[in-house]
Amino acid sequence: MTVMHQIKKWYYSFQNRWNEERMQQIINLIQNLSEQDVLTLARESFQLEDDMLVSEIFEIIAFTHPNIPRLHQELIDVKCFYPHVMFRNASTETREQLIDLLLNGELDSTQTHHLMCTLAWIGDKRVIKLYHDWWQQAPIQIQGDTLTREDLSWKLKLAGWQLNTNGERQNLVWEEHYKAISAPSAEVVSEEKCSCCNEPLIILFDFDLSLPSAEFLQFPGERLRIATCFQCGFDEVFTIVDGFGNVKWSDVNQNPETNKILLSR
Ligand SMILES: [Zn+2]
Repeated sequence: MTVMHQIKKWYYSFQNRWNEERMQQIINLIQNLSEQDVLTLARESFQLEDDMLVSEIFEIIAFTHPNIPRLHQELIDVKCFYPHVMFRNASTETREQLIDLLLNGELDSTQTHHLMCTLAWIGDKRVIKLYHDWWQQAPIQIQGDTLTREDLSWKLKLAGWQLNTNGERQNLVWEEHYKAISAPSAEVVSEEKCSCCNEPLIILFDFDLSLPSAEFLQFPGERLRIATCFQCGFDEVFTIVDGFGNVKWSDVNQNPETNKILLSR
């Protein structure tokens, strides 16, 4: 696969359900709805039995109508904090309401997880400070759940950022969006093998670093290839890369024997 450069306005994950043209039609349709109609759509969507479809509709609403306080309030009233991105652009008042609910309300474990992820998506200074305080106190108890630093990090990573050593927000994603296009002529099988299963690593992305569209990577060199193992892809696969397209298995990966055991199950 090679990455072509075509900036996309929307982030979405629905390609399996609708093709791109249909998807764009649906986005346009929702985008042109009034706030009142979006509220009606959201309320009626809740009645659907297809949870995935409900999430997808709400994700579109999150981008087309990022801050409808009334909708946020109705979601809070039923303690629904999923999809997490729904509250991304919440008002200060809504954010404070969410924090108060987390710290003083009554939530079950799933609601607590989703609410913490929702706050991570808001990710402003207030939330950064909150997470940093938790991080320093970890393991901490929130709503009866014990949370380690790893638990906190995972919730932040779901929202695309982490805390650096100074307790500041460090984004793990770029603002630019590009469409990835499969290039039939591109080589996809790396010469490097996975140390767990001995299968060749598969090239996921192949960047020509000389292209202006690759500047956002701020990666020196001519070529960057990102590879992973499709057999062992259930866990993070770390590789050592350079600016010449080389990919090497990293020793920081889990003990291969551990992965072999997991693979044999
Ligand atoms: Zn493998």
